[in-house]
Amino acid sequence: MSEKIQNIPITKPWMGEAEAEATRRAIISGWVTQGPEVAAFEQEFAAYVGAKHACAVSNCTTALHLALLAVGVQPTDEVITVSHSYIATANSIRYCGATPVFVDIEPQTYNINPILIEDAISDRTRAILVVHQMGMPCNLKAILEIAHSHNLPVIEDAACAIGSEILWDGQWEKIGKPHGDIACFSFHPRKVITTGDGGMLTTNNPEWDKQFRLWRQHGMSVPDTVRHGAKQVIFESYPILGYNYRMTDIQAAVGREQLKRLPEIVERRRYLAQRYQEMLADVPELKLPTEPAWVKSNWQSYCVRLPAKSDQRQVMQTMLDAGIATRRGIMCAHREVAYEHETWSCGSEKENCHCTKGTCDRLFESEQAQDHTIVLPLYHQMTQQEQDYVVKVLNMACQV
Ligand SMILES: *Cc1c(COP(=O)(O)O)cnc(C)c1O
Repeated sequence: MSEKIQNIPITKPWMGEAEAEATRRAIISGWVTQGPEVAAFEQEFAAYVGAKHACAVSNCTTALHLALLAVGVQPTDEVITVSHSYIATANSIRYCGATPVFVDIEPQTYNINPILIEDAISDRTRAILVVHQMGMPCNLKAILEIAHSHNLPVIEDAACAIGSEILWDGQWEKIGKPHGDIACFSFHPRKVITTGDGGMLTTNNPEWDKQFRLWRQHGMSVPDTVRHGAKQVIFESYPILGYNYRMTDIQAAVGREQLKRLPEIVERRRYLAQRYQEMLADVPELKLPTEPAWVKSNWQSYCVRLPAKSDQRQVMQTMLDAGIATRRGIMCAHREVAYEHETWSCGSEKENCHCTKGTCDRLFESEQAQDHTIVLPLYHQMTQQEQDYVVKVLNMACQV
């Protein structure tokens, strides 16, 4: 008997009674904003990725902002990154008053092309912000080599990459250890684990970790957790300009439960991704994602490049009509109205630059990826029957 399958979402968080119980625990405790649950979540997160320090914040965008500030990014500086990412990556650079310099991606991994970085470095370059796009680790070895030779810090936008791994000196290590200087994670529901919204910074540098903790709570010299427990009156002071980038204890309590589920989630996603690889191998001209031998993705997104003759919107509409949600490939910041004029650079000298609104010669692969790839549904609870159905409909949609 074949049951009718309908409404397959692009993703679905895997949470339940344990998370509901955790929010209850935080609420009944009487301490609801950044407090003991946040501290415990940070320790457990640091242990999971193998970092010395983990600092929880309100989301990954605020994490990126603080990471850039920590390495000294200032107005008029340049930061090398990709346009082909969620817009938060480039936005965080502009929050510092700095200019994003966009480098193109590799068409196979959708990650920054290390060969192009050197050329984009100028005397104003202050940092390199790389992305592990869709959970696929970027070529950190090659990137770090270039960065070190120019004395530049590397920040990892690991928003999608919790649970992803990279082969490092013969050992499999988690993204976030960190391999660059600072790594930033997201717990938005589109990512692999979620706290509703939330972010985390990991680093091995104790000074930066201290800075993050000051910045996230208004620059307050004495955290309110300390004042609350003190037997003597303490007056706090505000030595620096800070922000309110706190995570709440309610969110952190959920995060701790999600962290317990993470190994199972990653295993399941890898299994489903492998199944897609096998079942989609026969679709003519469809290009499947490639995982270099030295990385293991968490498959936060499973992205396919459509046959050249296929129209992206049409394929997506055909799938939607069949009850299957998809998304177009990762956006390009440089094509958005918010990125007009002088807000970004592609590294060309002004007189050699032929960029017009919406297109840039130097970002060809980024634009191609946005226009010709789609992201397929993939979530922990997805059944084989649902996945078979997605494959069947995609196969049909690609034939027309
Ligand atoms: C989701 C995402 C972000 C933003 O994360 P938030 O937690 O929503 O702020 C940043 N960078 C990348 C690559 C992302 O995918």
